[in-house]
Amino acid sequence: MKDLKRVILKLSGEALTGNQKSGYDDAMIEDIARQVKEITDKGIQVGIVIGGGNYWRGRSNDSIDRTKADQIGMLATIMNCIYVSEIFRSTGIMTNVLTPFECGGITKLFSKDRANKYFSKGMVVFFAGGTGHPYFSTDTGVALRAIEMDADAILLAKAIDGVYDSDPKTNPAAKKYDSISIQEVVDKKLGVIDMTASVMCMENRIPLMVFGLNEKNSIVDAMSGKFNGTMVTV
Ligand code: UDP
Repeated sequence: MKDLKRVILKLSGEALTGNQKSGYDDAMIEDIARQVKEITDKGIQVGIVIGGGNYWRGRSNDSIDRTKADQIGMLATIMNCIYVSEIFRSTGIMTNVLTPFECGGITKLFSKDRANKYFSKGMVVFFAGGTGHPYFSTDTGVALRAIEMDADAILLAKAIDGVYDSDPKTNPAAKKYDSISIQEVVDKKLGVIDMTASVMCMENRIPLMVFGLNEKNSIVDAMSGKFNGTMVTV
């Protein structure tokens, strides 16, 4: 893989709750901030996409119109980004939150030029609000932003420490891959990220590094030779 100069980190919404029953696990988010700072201090640019599953999932709410349910989901991802961005700021990191639609003075409207401007100032850029369209997910959001922003890789921090050939929760013999091609992920429907996002990464040659968010220092390690997760190659 080429040198990593710009990466987009994807955090799931649920991950922000950490070991708590609800809300945000500040200590865990501060540790994410510390790790991201270690990476940006080396001159690597970091964008962040966060899911919204801790608040809301459009597809699990069939009592209302799907488009409306997904709009609530997109707003949930913005709330998560604002929170995490503020925790990052409290640790001395400069940040900005961009959304694909206007949110008044709350966020700034996404454009590639604007995001590049913030990156060049050394800021961590939060890409909130997903793609801005219903029937998509923040998986497709991270794929889209990684492609559009010419990122070198997506860092996928998950509850599980890599990609397995079957679910280790139900199959104790499940085998973890050190490396797997994105084509194989698609063919075997391994569900690392959703199918739309997988195909986008495959067609646009964006590799993914999949690792456990709960493993100590895993984000920093993903950027170094100590990577212990699964490399999804293109
Ligand atoms: N969402 C959407 N479009 C996007 C990104 C997200 O409609 O581009 C909505 C969708 O309802 C989704 C929710 O926001 O369920 C939360 O996003 P996340 O990716 O966390 O959803 P998940 O894949 O966990 O359902």
